[in-house]
Amino acid sequence: MTNGPVRSVLIVGGGTAGWMAAAALSRMIPTGLSVTLVESDAIGTIGVGEATIPPIRAFNAALGIDEAEFIAATAGSFKLGIEFVGWGATGERYLHPFGVFGFDQEGVRFHQHWLRRRAAGVREDIADYALCAVAAREGRFMPPASDPASVLSQMNHAYHFDAGLYAAFLRTRAERAGVVRVEGEVVEVIKEGERGNVNAVRLADSRILAADLFVDCSGFRGVLIEGAMQAGYEDWTPWLACDRAVAVPCATGGDGLTPFTRSTARPAGWQWRIPLQHRTGNGYVYSSAYLSDDEATATLLANLDGPALAEPRLLRFTAGRRRRQWIGNVVALGLAGGFAEPLESTSIHMVQSGISRLLALFPDREFSGVEAATFNRQADVQYDQVRDFLALHYHLTHRDDSPFWRDAAARAIPDTLAEKIALWKRAGRVFRRDDDLFAEDSWVAVLLGQGLVPGGWDRMADLTDPAMVEQRFVRLRALFADAASRMPRHADYIARVAPGRQHAA
Ligand SMILES: Cc1cc2nc3c(=O)[nH]c(=O)nc-3n(C[C@H](O)[C@H](O)[C@H](O)COP(=O)(O)OP(=O)(O)OC[C@H]3O[C@@H](n4cnc5c(N)ncnc54)[C@H](O)[C@@H]3O)c2cc1C
Repeated sequence: MTNGPVRSVLIVGGGTAGWMAAAALSRMIPTGLSVTLVESDAIGTIGVGEATIPPIRAFNAALGIDEAEFIAATAGSFKLGIEFVGWGATGERYLHPFGVFGFDQEGVRFHQHWLRRRAAGVREDIADYALCAVAAREGRFMPPASDPASVLSQMNHAYHFDAGLYAAFLRTRAERAGVVRVEGEVVEVIKEGERGNVNAVRLADSRILAADLFVDCSGFRGVLIEGAMQAGYEDWTPWLACDRAVAVPCATGGDGLTPFTRSTARPAGWQWRIPLQHRTGNGYVYSSAYLSDDEATATLLANLDGPALAEPRLLRFTAGRRRRQWIGNVVALGLAGGFAEPLESTSIHMVQSGISRLLALFPDREFSGVEAATFNRQADVQYDQVRDFLALHYHLTHRDDSPFWRDAAARAIPDTLAEKIALWKRAGRVFRRDDDLFAEDSWVAVLLGQGLVPGGWDRMADLTDPAMVEQRFVRLRALFADAASRMPRHADYIARVAPGRQHAA
């Protein structure tokens, strides 16, 4: 048995996952740990991950990254949520905002009062009661206020950024903190006989890189976790049919620098629109069972805000996750660990939470398996939560204008999701399990946004005088509209914090 602390880590892969891991490990485990990252320029990175969710702010903060510096370095913009166009039915749209809906009243969730008013005949968009949504629609942005008494404390944001620039930004920091970068292609994984752990990797030019712990950030290939450790893959195609994406950046146009991501339903999937300072990222995520690559590319190119700035890039994937993310002394992060389509911008977050888990469970050289078991259990829960939330969007569609959407509505859903929907249908209740990644209000936004109004509401809401509730609703709506109208325009805010770039209007 080998004891003692891990002295060396080899990260295989230099995409967003690899450099996030390198930056975090080099900063957070300082005592004598050597970190090396090997990446192959010839293989390259996926680099299309451009939209994120709010916890990324905590990751950047833990690395000591200044927000303005980050926005400038990554050509980034601010994100207050996602607009879904044509998902519930053709011609409809709704916002899934970050932040919360209104305020709880007498201990009862805001949306329960909203449901009671709706049953009494009031027809209002619940998004009018989310400050992030109101600001997003107005094209305005402010960071949250730290004073909980301020209405601006209801703001919450994530970012859009150029993933290649983010990786480069993190690389500079990681190398400054002592991470050694090696360029080369891993062609062989050398394992020890006894326990089957990895001893070293061999590069194409015969160099050998040894380490105690290996972090597989090699993308879909999973060079170590699958190639050497044969983790196995759980295929989610029965629930999430999309298996391709075609991506292309274009010149800024259309609505310009919106502080939200847009997801527009298309005949065999959906199209993302991610506004950056210097360009807009676009992609059509689709199912190859319903659409050819040429048709998808043509549809994407016909639906851009401005001229395409590069050749469209085709990406193939299988939605799902590795059956085990950590085996022996190999931990997978990023696409090496699994992938679900970027409908709720969760992949980079999965990298972040994998890193947090690895830091919290950092092993010693015994690699007893105890830490790995906990890591894997938690990772499975989180991956499955993402799967369920994404499946919800397809399941609740009323579209019947193409075979893809008709089949989406008819497709079976995971039991965990079915249970959640059944609970919602009765009285609008959402219960988060196991520290669900998605807040209760995220579920509420998508459930209502896609037209699933529950049959009842929590009768606790009846205990508050309806006239008082009404007054509060009227005041809140006006308060949010006023607060949003006073915020700077998103483009102006960026120009102020990150001057120097060519800003879109
Ligand atoms: C279509 C699409 C859209 C996406 N959109 C979003 C989004 O909006 N938001 C979001 O959060 N995420 C998104 N993602 C996911 C996001 O792109 C990834 O999670 C993120 O970029 C991390 O990728 P990665 O570093 O794991 O893999 P990659 O970027 O593929 O990097 C893999 C690295 O491993 C190296 N490598 C591979 N094999 C070897 C080898 N044998 N030897 C040496 N090096 C090797 C490569 O050179 C590269 O450096 C999207 C993904 C796809 C496919």
